[in-house]
This record gives sequence, structure tokens and C-alpha cells, in this order.
Amino acid sequence: MESVHRFSQRLFPISSLPDKCFKTCKSSTILKYPIFFLGSHSCNVLQQPTGPLSSGRFISNNRTYRSTSTTRRAGGWFLGLGGKKKEVMLPDIVKAGDPVLHEAAQEVPVDEIGSDKIQKIIDDMIMVLRKAPGVGLAAPQIGIPLKIIVLEDTKEYISYAPKEENEARDRRPFELLVILNPKLKKKNDKTALFFEGCLSVDGFRAVVERHLDVEVTGFGRDGSPIRVDASGWQARILQHECDHLDGTIYVDKLVPRTFRTVENLNLPLPNGCHKLGVR
Ligand SMILES: [Zn+2]
Repeated sequence: MESVHRFSQRLFPISSLPDKCFKTCKSSTILKYPIFFLGSHSCNVLQQPTGPLSSGRFISNNRTYRSTSTTRRAGGWFLGLGGKKKEVMLPDIVKAGDPVLHEAAQEVPVDEIGSDKIQKIIDDMIMVLRKAPGVGLAAPQIGIPLKIIVLEDTKEYISYAPKEENEARDRRPFELLVILNPKLKKKNDKTALFFEGCLSVDGFRAVVERHLDVEVTGFGRDGSPIRVDASGWQARILQHECDHLDGTIYVDKLVPRTFRTVENLNLPLPNGCHKLGVR
């Protein structure tokens, strides 16, 4: 997350958002190790989000939103329908150290949820998430300090991890979730310790203690209230992404002495560290 902007300005109304919120980048990074995955995996087919408000346009008021990350839309190309190969420019993922990742994000006014700008941000987030690929992304990770998260976990992604590990983590597939202004509550005092990673701190992992069962309320992309009851790995993803909206990355709350490179992931934990698993 390499944006050089500071985001201390209040951002509303949303019509003033692009100038402050869109980061400009010189290069893109396709991460070798997706968030929460332990092996490398590359995702070749990008799915274009659907919906009436989907748009390939970039939001731009006075400033061009630049990125060199490009990818083809799945549409006609994937279906073999011919025509021009459209390229979609995507924002890059902001990396640790950028102020946008370390400051609280702003709520999205509910009456702005249906706006083209917010819908475009959501579309971009979904595409960036799938391109990475990852299982969760918060708007600050593309340089936008708004309370929006997207997450999904698929059978395919899960298949890259050993079965025993998926069982221990209670990791099960779930469909794409888009939540605006999420509010997270733990449902009980059960916690679990597992390694996790972040698209904004690529190449590293650390053990983080997370609640096992959480409830998240907020709004869907259509502006209607939603509530998600989650447990296991999905609950962990929700906590990780909601933390981003508070300006917290997992490194801020890791279990000391467990931080390591992905290459060293399977090396033993230091003496005195709790065993991984549910506590
Ligand atoms: Zn993250």
C-alpha cells in the first residue's frame, strides 16, 4: 500500500471523494501468496461483477485514476464471442505503512450506497480481491478510506490447503459478501489461534487470536440492512477486514514472536507460544 496521500480530510459528501481517495500507482503486483492461503496459486480468470450498477468506467472528477494493473474482462473474451478485448484498469493494493491503512475509515452515508461512485468502488474491490486472489479486502486496501468490505471463499481456494488444516480452521466456502458500515460483535468468549496474512503485508504471516463466533450487521450493496452470523475461518476474515476499517492491520495484534515469512511458515513456534487451534 504505497499511496502517498494522507487521508485526514473528512470525505463527505461523496462527490468530493475521488480526489482524496484514489491512489495512483506506478506498478501492479500480482501476489504469489493469497491472503490466508498457505500455498501459491494463480487465478487466471477474472469474473466481472454483475449488476445494474456495474461499470467498467473509472470514477474520476478532476483527476485521472491511474493504474497499470490491467486484466481482460471475462465477458465476450471468455465466452468466445469475439469482439474487442476490453481491458479493465484496477487499483493496486495499498501496502503497510500507507496512512490510509492506519487511520479509521469513514462510514458510507446510507443514501449514497446506490450511487455510481460507491457501486464502482465495490466493483473494483471485488475485481481486485479476485485478481489477487484473496478471501477478503477492505476499501482502505485500495486507498479508499470508507467502511466497505468484500469477502468470499471458494471450494477452489480451499482446495489448495490440506484437508486437516481446513477442518481445524473450520474453513468452508461461502459466497461473495459485500458489507458497508459493518459492525462486528463477538457472540461468545471462544477464540482461536491461527496464522493469517494480509494482501497489504504480502510475504508474511503471524499468529493472531480471533473470536470464533461473530455477528456482523451492516448494509448490502443494494442499501438494505444485512446481518451475517459467522464462525471459524469466515469469522476470522470478517474480523480481519473490520479491523482494517479501524486502521488496524493484523501485525498490530499478532501474537509476539510468531511473525515470519511465508517460506518459514511451517517452522516450529518459539517456546512458550500457545499451540494453534481453538482455545
Ligand atoms: Zn488485510
